[in-house]
Amino acid sequence: MSKIGCHVSIAGGIVNAPKRAAELGCESFQMFTRSPQGGAAPVITPEIAKSFREEMEKWKQENCYIHTPYYINFASSNEAIRQSSARIVREELERGSLIGAKYIMTHLGSSKDFTRQEGLKMTAEGVGRILEGYKGTTKLLLEISAGAGNVIGDTFEELKYILDRIDILIYGYEVGICIDTAHMFASGYDIKTEEGFKKVVAAIKKTVGLERIRIVHANDSKIELGGRKDRHDHIGQGKIGEEGFVNLMRVFPKADFVCETQPDLVEKDIAKLKEIRDTI
Ligand SMILES: [Zn+2]
Ligand SMILES: [Zn+2]
Repeated sequence: MSKIGCHVSIAGGIVNAPKRAAELGCESFQMFTRSPQGGAAPVITPEIAKSFREEMEKWKQENCYIHTPYYINFASSNEAIRQSSARIVREELERGSLIGAKYIMTHLGSSKDFTRQEGLKMTAEGVGRILEGYKGTTKLLLEISAGAGNVIGDTFEELKYILDRIDILIYGYEVGICIDTAHMFASGYDIKTEEGFKKVVAAIKKTVGLERIRIVHANDSKIELGGRKDRHDHIGQGKIGEEGFVNLMRVFPKADFVCETQPDLVEKDIAKLKEIRDTI
């Protein structure tokens, strides 16, 4: 059964996150472990890791997930940015392993100075570089993007291209996918109507496969189908509507659902998703 939660603030340190998550009604939650805009990451000492795990238990949070910072770009024309992107995602995997995070998810970047094909190839290389020699327990998920401008990874075909080049025999490691309902909808995937959703499921089956989808970012969308912009709305209040989330919960009963909606009403979004889950 899907666990339901949201993105939670780490104000005052990551040890505060499990309690905050529980107060919002989360069963699992997502967080940053460092500033999403940049700067050095606060060190996770063994003491912090231990208290974090204790807090997880105390507040009955099943899993936690880490979102990588927003400046990650594997297709940048700047070699230093490509290198540091791989290094930072790797750091987040290692940091996640310290605190027992189940997954981290990352955006892939944008290929504005290269052809799409070159950008995709560099992205696959960058993702491979993250995983070289990695022995931790936290798993990596690539997040589907909203496909604005030259952003990489807005279709399941592109994600499959990247996954196919991360050879499991080399890395001994399988990478999964995080879908984001608002990104998908903006990229033209109709998850709302029955007819449209059938096509989406067929497209996933033909490319990355249903079992690779481990997390669903559950966000309604202020943007219409195919609008190619990323503007989240509260569950049931946007262009996707409750029916889209019913569709997804039926097909992904093992994926966890994480809301990334505005904090003022996120509690209601979590309650709404639980209600949907409990009636299907
Ligand atoms: Zn994201
Ligand atoms: Zn997302």
